[in-house]
Amino acid sequence: MEKKTGNVSIHAQNIMPVIKKWLYSDKDIFVREMVSNACDAVTKMRIAGGEDDYQVHVEVDAAAKQLRFIDNGIGMTADEVERYIGQVAFSGAEEFLKQYDDKEKDGGIIGHFGLGFYSAFMVASKVTIDTLSYQPGAQAVRWESEDGMTYTLSDSDWDRRGTRITLDIAPEEEEFLRPFRVREVLERYCAFMQTPIFLDEIKPEGAKDDGPKADEAKETAAPVPVNDTHPLWLKNPSDCTEEEYKAFYRKVFREFEEPLFWVHLNVDYPFNLKGILYFPKLRQDFGGMEGQIKLFSGQVFVADNIKEVIPEFLMLLKGVIDCPDLPLNVSRSFLQNDGYVRKISAHITRKVADRLTGMFNTDRPSFEKYWPDIHPFIKYGCMRDEKFYERMKDVLLYKTVDGRFLTLAEYTAQNGEKAPDKVLYTSDESRQDAMIRLYRDQGIDVVVLDTPIDVNFASFMEYSGQKDGKLRFCRVDADTDALKAQDAETPALDAEALTKLFREATGMESLKVELQALRDEQLPAMLVEDEQTRRFKDMSRLYGEKGFSLPDDFTLVLNSRSALVSALAGAKDPQRAQLIAAELYDLAELSRAPLSPQQMTAFLSRSMRLCELAVGND
Ligand code: ADP
Repeated sequence: MEKKTGNVSIHAQNIMPVIKKWLYSDKDIFVREMVSNACDAVTKMRIAGGEDDYQVHVEVDAAAKQLRFIDNGIGMTADEVERYIGQVAFSGAEEFLKQYDDKEKDGGIIGHFGLGFYSAFMVASKVTIDTLSYQPGAQAVRWESEDGMTYTLSDSDWDRRGTRITLDIAPEEEEFLRPFRVREVLERYCAFMQTPIFLDEIKPEGAKDDGPKADEAKETAAPVPVNDTHPLWLKNPSDCTEEEYKAFYRKVFREFEEPLFWVHLNVDYPFNLKGILYFPKLRQDFGGMEGQIKLFSGQVFVADNIKEVIPEFLMLLKGVIDCPDLPLNVSRSFLQNDGYVRKISAHITRKVADRLTGMFNTDRPSFEKYWPDIHPFIKYGCMRDEKFYERMKDVLLYKTVDGRFLTLAEYTAQNGEKAPDKVLYTSDESRQDAMIRLYRDQGIDVVVLDTPIDVNFASFMEYSGQKDGKLRFCRVDADTDALKAQDAETPALDAEALTKLFREATGMESLKVELQALRDEQLPAMLVEDEQTRRFKDMSRLYGEKGFSLPDDFTLVLNSRSALVSALAGAKDPQRAQLIAAELYDLAELSRAPLSPQQMTAFLSRSMRLCELAVGND
């Protein structure tokens, strides 16, 4: 062939600077593009009917300052090189240029989806393609370009079927001449590609090897590919063993803690979707709720945690998802609005919910065992995704203080009579122990809601979850409704005088005091705080809002059935009455929260004084 030169395409002048600038942060992606093209070429050759020992080799030649990608795939004729390398790429590129305007909005996602062959120019000062087509009588060709804009085409002396792409690595990109660095990139992007990939470190000719022993080792050990060509997610779920799932998890996520369980996604129709999602064991600190979902497209790694494709709450899991038909050369906003993507996302959500409800129905003991680890994820999912909530609502569990797990229906069935439309809960079992006891003594279950997500989840259940809007989650110190004595005879006490007494004793001029007939006669006083006000305060604290404080909404409830309260109402000695009132207030406060240091000091000296009075030496 006559040596000829050409211009890649009129658009190339525009696109090269953009590629270089845009992809700066994800530069290493060119490796994926070269290797996946090589694997594609092998697949095409396979389809064309060739049985062979198919391999892709990545040669790191530091001495020559070259990185070479060699495949024994289908190869290209001169025509094909001109057609495919010169033009086809630009259907994608034009699209890309349009999106360049959206740069800010898209925030770099496109980088993950690649621009194919031209990404080589991000790191190369020159790119050379030597290729020999599989077609009988084909002549090998060489394509060379220094800037991706103009090229020369000539005969090549390449004598094997397939393609070698040689990158002369630019001086500022020499990290890609370090085998360690290249291996890292291959492991990231190419770990599951379809053709065995080998990393070859090319030693300069005449370079000393490590002696005769090393040579021996080389002869005996077969080279190991960097990738696994048959990833577990492609296998039929019924052929996978538990050990395989666990080993895959350890390997992919470098995680030594075992997963709790997993969901194997395997769909061929109406779309192609494969993957494995693992429920990780929750770390003790809840900060550890951070998953990782790796997205693949036909075994080619795309990116981690692409939220346009995978429902956000599923990001708390760890897993791999392979969607070969996903339109990846598109913008973020396209993905967000694409019906196909939405269907995939909905399908994944449904499968996860099915797995969980299935376990609840067939193996409730396991479901209960896992609940403490998975509930934050499930609750979050319910709040984020209405469909997920609809599927999960009947299996959401509440753990009682005595360690049983109840669904909402079970809770209501067992407690509804004594505490209608209420779920009594504690946010801190040890601190609220005294209040918890009051309910348990009445035979009312108290459930534990003590993780950060629970405040939000309770509100969610009240306002969105329950359609009739009647249900209320009520902390054990939020009111006394379920503790009141029904039609009990109670002494008529002077509420006004008692209010005055307690206000004076505590020095709180606007303290709210209420007289109520509570079932437990041993309980003199109780401090309640309005549930909604408290939740609101908890949330503002959680989100660190300063300079905004809601007035406290406490009420001191005095039990008119308590002998102590009756006695106090009729007390003759005003000084003693004040002492006792102050003490009762502190005791009520103590049973729901720790005292402040000043309160504590006062409480201790007053208690001492009361002891002295009781001993009667005064
Ligand atoms: P894409 O792979 O998305 O089509 P590329 O720019 O990466 O875009 O590649 C353009 C085309 O060049 C490919 O579709 C293929 O036809 C051809 N090509 C690239 N690399 C090779 C290779 N190693 N062997 C054979 N053909 C190749």
